[in-house]
Amino acid sequence: MVADIATLAAPGVRAIAPYQPGKPIEELEREYGVSRAVKLASNENPLGPSPKALAAARAALDGVALYPDGNGFALKRRLSEKLNVPMAWLTLGNGSSDILDFAVCAFVTPENEVVFSEHAFAIYPILTQAAGARAVVVPAKRWGNDLAALHRAIGPKTRLVFIANPNNPTGTWLARAELEAFLAALPAHVVVMIDEAYFEYASYAPMGARDYPDALEWVGKFPNLIVARTFSKVYGLAGLRVGYGVSQPAVADLLNRVRPPFNVNSLALVAATAALDDAAHLNMTLEITAKGMHQLVAGFAELGLGHIPSVGNFVCVDIGKPAEPAYEALLREGIIVRPVANYGLPNHLRVTVGVPEENARFLTALEKVLGQA
Ligand SMILES: *Cc1c(COP(=O)(O)O)cnc(C)c1O
Repeated sequence: MVADIATLAAPGVRAIAPYQPGKPIEELEREYGVSRAVKLASNENPLGPSPKALAAARAALDGVALYPDGNGFALKRRLSEKLNVPMAWLTLGNGSSDILDFAVCAFVTPENEVVFSEHAFAIYPILTQAAGARAVVVPAKRWGNDLAALHRAIGPKTRLVFIANPNNPTGTWLARAELEAFLAALPAHVVVMIDEAYFEYASYAPMGARDYPDALEWVGKFPNLIVARTFSKVYGLAGLRVGYGVSQPAVADLLNRVRPPFNVNSLALVAATAALDDAAHLNMTLEITAKGMHQLVAGFAELGLGHIPSVGNFVCVDIGKPAEPAYEALLREGIIVRPVANYGLPNHLRVTVGVPEENARFLTALEKVLGQA
């Protein structure tokens, strides 16, 4: 008899604080007895996926008795054309979280260190701990990645650096010249993951990012660079789980060795391929998000609240006091946002930009909730 099964777990695994996802709408409605709940908690697309993607997934349902194409040929071919990169540079993931995971599995041992910023995406420390490696968390600069400090934190044991551009949950971004200089100065024993989950938003001019780079431009130049992107955010396919990595083929080969066979399901493969062909839906999403961001930011100003300037489809508002009670009170109003105390931001709430009515409902509820406290 094992007294405590946890004692059998790998030491890193025992220390993991589980990822806290945004509360699902059904759970809120079940627990709080509210209806017409609005979820602005996980940076999903409030318009949903492209109708073309949905039609492709529906049509593929009939074929689910068969295993999917384990190489994802059709999606890779479409991505290769669209991104102008060779197919051999691509690795497909069950969400881009898979790509982050493969990089850790392929490169990081318990003797290694993994470097990332304070307020970085919560998956980075989880993957690092699961590998039994040491996380080196570098203090942020104005809420974002401090590249000079990240560079100084790199030592002989460092094997991987995670940089989200823009960062989640803060929405801060790095400009082209500074990021390229950082990559050029990296020691040869370090692999860098540039996580571009919000690339499409940040590169849309009305979102306001200046000199925002497309890291794919650097993949041919830097053999130690991996770029991760996803269909979960702007493409509205979070529930299907599909993302991809772009790297030189030698790295892609290693990532594909640790990739479980058939990691991307057949519905996700066809939906993602079709989503890439719907520029109109993408543009509509970007437009509505840029407008929604203005609506939220103007609303915060009216309430006298500060926020962290963001180029993603989400923004952190500073309510000037511990945010957990406001988060709870918003739940009772049927609004799900994200408390970010676990990201070192105890006074902020992260809110995903919704459609205008959702943003308005959130702002009205926020005003009410703050007035009560
Ligand atoms: C959402 C997100 C991802 C990836 O999510 P998947 O659904 O696994 O593709 C990766 N990085 C960041 C910073 C994110 O916010």
